[in-house]
Amino acid sequence: MSGRYDWIVVGAGIIGSLTAWRLAQNGFRVALVDAGAPGQQATGAAAGILSPLAEAGTIGPFTTLMMHSLHRYPDLVLELTEESGIDIQYHSTGVLQIAKEDELVRLRQRYAWQESFGAVWVTDMQKLEPSLAEYHAAIYTPKEGQVHPPLLVQAAVRAALARNVHAFFGEPVRSLLRDGLQVRGVQLPTQDLWADAGVIITAGAWSHLIVDSVSAPLPLSPIRGQILSLKTDHAPFRHIIFHQHSYLVPKRDGRLIVGATEDDAGFDSRVTASGITRLAEILQFFRISEPTFYLEKVWAGLRPKSADGLPILGRWPGQDSLYIATGHYRNGVLLSAITADIALGWATNKPAPMDLSPFHPQRFHNTILPKG
Ligand SMILES: Cc1cc2nc3c(=O)[nH]c(=O)nc-3n(C[C@H](O)[C@H](O)[C@H](O)COP(=O)(O)OP(=O)(O)OC[C@H]3O[C@@H](n4cnc5c(N)ncnc54)[C@H](O)[C@@H]3O)c2cc1C
Repeated sequence: MSGRYDWIVVGAGIIGSLTAWRLAQNGFRVALVDAGAPGQQATGAAAGILSPLAEAGTIGPFTTLMMHSLHRYPDLVLELTEESGIDIQYHSTGVLQIAKEDELVRLRQRYAWQESFGAVWVTDMQKLEPSLAEYHAAIYTPKEGQVHPPLLVQAAVRAALARNVHAFFGEPVRSLLRDGLQVRGVQLPTQDLWADAGVIITAGAWSHLIVDSVSAPLPLSPIRGQILSLKTDHAPFRHIIFHQHSYLVPKRDGRLIVGATEDDAGFDSRVTASGITRLAEILQFFRISEPTFYLEKVWAGLRPKSADGLPILGRWPGQDSLYIATGHYRNGVLLSAITADIALGWATNKPAPMDLSPFHPQRFHNTILPKG
């Protein structure tokens, strides 16, 4: 058996699902393939924070990309809610980056470059977040917020299916199909799918395994993140709180997400004793010790991280219709809005909203020379 499409999107996490929907919205015939059920990997594990400034190290193309994506969210949410009927719990909760006394100088330095992006230096913590009154200052970004990732991906898939995207779920791509040297389709266990326009690899931390046949190894690896949720009757925080890379995310339903660890354990996505210890340290740092907080769930997922930590977005070197959109690492939910726009730009030849060369797969040209 075989099927013919304009575009084949491989991987139905948030990157692939939104991409497939955007392509179908614009009249393309699209197949969306996933080895399992959609949104069950990194996307399903994510906290859902949309915070370029808490995540960014400095001013530069990556921060610009994240800001572009954050600005796309309000429109994306309107469209997606209308087309899917699902409330993805988008909310500009606001983010507070806090620091201990001896870290204040560094926080002030971060504020110096974040001010131009709308960050505010606050000193009256009692008013903003009474539970953190002991902190003297924080960077406050009122426009940053959150979504509920499982609902976001569910909405994207539902909207995509409503636009006649053909879903092949539970069907792992076994190999890429070629016409000569050029990739033209994918082989599934049950059938071959062919693409007249292109194949887009959005398989998260597994993406490099799929493109292995067209190049030497793409430097991408899974970075495990362990994370937990608490239930409580009284919500102690109103904002998302960051201390360095640790965070608390108060959810609308009263849950508090506490995250997240980082380690490289290959494709092992189990929760470990050391992961729980690290999460307990985060709880301790934020002084969450009341007996009225109940552990709801602890889980883990695999973030796709490239060798330089930046996303990998673009046409594959030496290929005319093979594209990749992965390596979103800690910020794939945030970056999904702009990534789907960029992928649509590949299909429609529309220019990207910024220079994407820092993210092009070509930057790894020493390692990913095309295979014959
Ligand atoms: C604990 C944790 C917390 C996080 N918190 C946040 C956050 O607050 N904000 C944020 O922006 N980001 C966050 N992230 C990062 C974010 O989750 C990822 O960057 C994002 O989900 C990546 O999306 P994706 O679609 O590329 O990958 P995935 O969601 O992993 O999807 C890839 C899909 O490809 C499929 N696939 C793999 N191999 C094949 C194959 N051979 N054939 C077909 N399909 C295949 C998989 O089954 C999977 O469904 C977090 C991640 C973790 C782990």
